[in-house]
Amino acid sequence: MSDYNFDVHHINGAWVQAESSERIEVIDAATEEVIGRIPAGTAKEVDTAVKAARAAFDSWSTTTPEFRGNLLKAASEAILARTEELAVIQSREVGTPLALSRAMHVGLPSVTVGSQNDFVGHAFDPEIIGNATIVKEAIGVVGLIAPWNFPLQQVVAKVAPALAAGCTIVLKPSEFAPLTTYALIEILEAAGLPAGVLNVVFGDGPTVGEAIVTHPDIDMVSFTGSTAVGKRICALAADKVKRVALELGGKSPLVVLPDADVNMVAQRVVGAITLNSGQACSALTRIVVPQSRLAEVESAILAAVATIKVGDPMSEDTAMGPLVSERQLGRVRALIDKGIAEGARLLTGGSGLPEGLTKGYYVQPTVFSDVTIDMTIAQEEIFGPVMSIQPYDDALGDDEAVRIANATVYGLAAAVMGADVARANAVARRIRAGQVEVNAGAFNPIAPFGGYKQSGHGRELGRHAVEEYLEMKALLN
Ligand code: NAD
Repeated sequence: MSDYNFDVHHINGAWVQAESSERIEVIDAATEEVIGRIPAGTAKEVDTAVKAARAAFDSWSTTTPEFRGNLLKAASEAILARTEELAVIQSREVGTPLALSRAMHVGLPSVTVGSQNDFVGHAFDPEIIGNATIVKEAIGVVGLIAPWNFPLQQVVAKVAPALAAGCTIVLKPSEFAPLTTYALIEILEAAGLPAGVLNVVFGDGPTVGEAIVTHPDIDMVSFTGSTAVGKRICALAADKVKRVALELGGKSPLVVLPDADVNMVAQRVVGAITLNSGQACSALTRIVVPQSRLAEVESAILAAVATIKVGDPMSEDTAMGPLVSERQLGRVRALIDKGIAEGARLLTGGSGLPEGLTKGYYVQPTVFSDVTIDMTIAQEEIFGPVMSIQPYDDALGDDEAVRIANATVYGLAAAVMGADVARANAVARRIRAGQVEVNAGAFNPIAPFGGYKQSGHGRELGRHAVEEYLEMKALLN
């Protein structure tokens, strides 16, 4: 397998040699081998990128939405045409099993990019209020900072709506999974993106990320990542009263109502554990179960989790690969140990390596029960294949289930299961989260996605994402 070594950024339509010789290594999560290198960018390179984005803004923001939508449609098809290459890179960077990588790390980004064409025109529809005509305009130069867990999707979930809105961009992908961004640049340029519209500076958060957040000529920052970094970004951006969109962490509950189908619950738990080894911001990580059905739910989950095949992400029958990095592995193992130390009952798994695996950042699918809301594993985002069952008193009913579901600082996603659909929907409405699935309702790639509470503010995906990148003007006649 060839290596991916890069020593360039992309600024003003050209590959620009990095000024520093420092490189950041990209590691294969399953083999722990170095598979690539990217440059460690500097604040000066961010400044050059911002100047290019500013210079390109007037012309790009006055192209028609249809022109931009069509360009993105062409890029979407080009992404699909490179499925195998892009899936393999991301399986190596993140550890996602290849079959899942094709769908989630390539198919989904392709939809995210192409779907702009369907609604971008409407995002600019004027509104009349008395003597006021309300028009929408691109906000300006935007700084976009992405995480590693869905490398291409998290990048295009920002880049595509920002482009559709008419903004110009300075982007920093995650240093842990940056490699597909090089392909994305090629794809967008081949589709006709003019020079200076998308500028990419590779590098770390404290240097490149903070240079983006604090740059006086960036009008808005959109960040996806941890809540801790999101808080710092908010504080830094406040100095320039910059608009900030934040997609942060989660601790999402699955509320099981007394009449829920236990097999549906178990299957959904397996899905949540195996999707990117639990490294999804919206992963369901807490199962809120009525005491009367606890034993039944536990045994169904145990039986289902036992079928999860953990191993090489390149093997077509693997259900769960490794975690992304040594840092993440250390963090997940420490939290599993903390769960045991705080008195949660370990049903399966633990902090040791899965059987037969001696290399790679693997962790066992792990399920705890009797988890109470004061425990660390009920409160902190673990970002690994670790599930906590939180029993509730049947006598206290749905109120108690809702109370436990809402008892974290997060509010990104949730799920409710119950045979009485009206009741399940009523409970879903009481959960303070940006997206709530009812009875395993399927993920919708153009429905707004984002958080309540400390899971952030702003929405990505679909038409609502384009609106994040627009300013509103009232013309009074
Ligand atoms: P992270 O916060 O460590 O890093 C995210 C990005 O921010 C990276 O590009 C990083 O280089 C950059 N960064 C780090 N420090 C910075 C700083 N001081 N200033 C500016 N930029 C900085 O997060 P991660 O480990 O890459 O991703 C995992 C986290 O992302 C989890 O908490 C997960 O829940 C969250 N996430 C949220 C969503 C969502 O939509 N809400 C989606 C995916 C991931």
